[in-house]
Amino acid sequence: MGDTIFTKIINGEIPSHKVYEDERVFAFLDIGPLSEGHTLVVPREPVATIDMLSDESAAAIGRVLPRICRAVCEATGASDFNILQNNGAAAHQEVPHVHFHIIPRFPDRPEDGGLGVVWKPGAFDHGAGAALAGRIAALIGG
Ligand code: AMP
Repeated sequence: MGDTIFTKIINGEIPSHKVYEDERVFAFLDIGPLSEGHTLVVPREPVATIDMLSDESAAAIGRVLPRICRAVCEATGASDFNILQNNGAAAHQEVPHVHFHIIPRFPDRPEDGGLGVVWKPGAFDHGAGAALAGRIAALIGG
């Protein structure tokens, strides 16, 4: 597979509005913002989905994500924000290079960003839940 558009941005082949970079992480404004300050935080490591990401890149992103969120909120005056991380086409991923969306929310603005979240919880079966939690825990190991 060739370079994704995010690798080209990281390499400076495509311009971006950069807000942060270090040896493992690159962050820039989303060109199709759902709200003012919508920012993408991307590992330099070019893998498509987060389950493929190395521990080192994951740790590097986890270390700086709160700091970038604080700066985005302070710069825009946002009171709240969502972090969205899509994996695969069915999960609305368009660019096959891991990225975290930071989407500021402005409850006092009529649109409050373009992020519509529909949250419809289902019923929970404790028997099935216990079996599933056990299978997941065994696969995680530790
Ligand atoms: P996703 O649907 O999670 O894959 O999101 C991909 C995001 O990348 C979208 O929000 C796009 O607006 C954003 N995007 C695509 N191309 C660029 C670009 N050249 N600069 C900044 N953001 C981009």
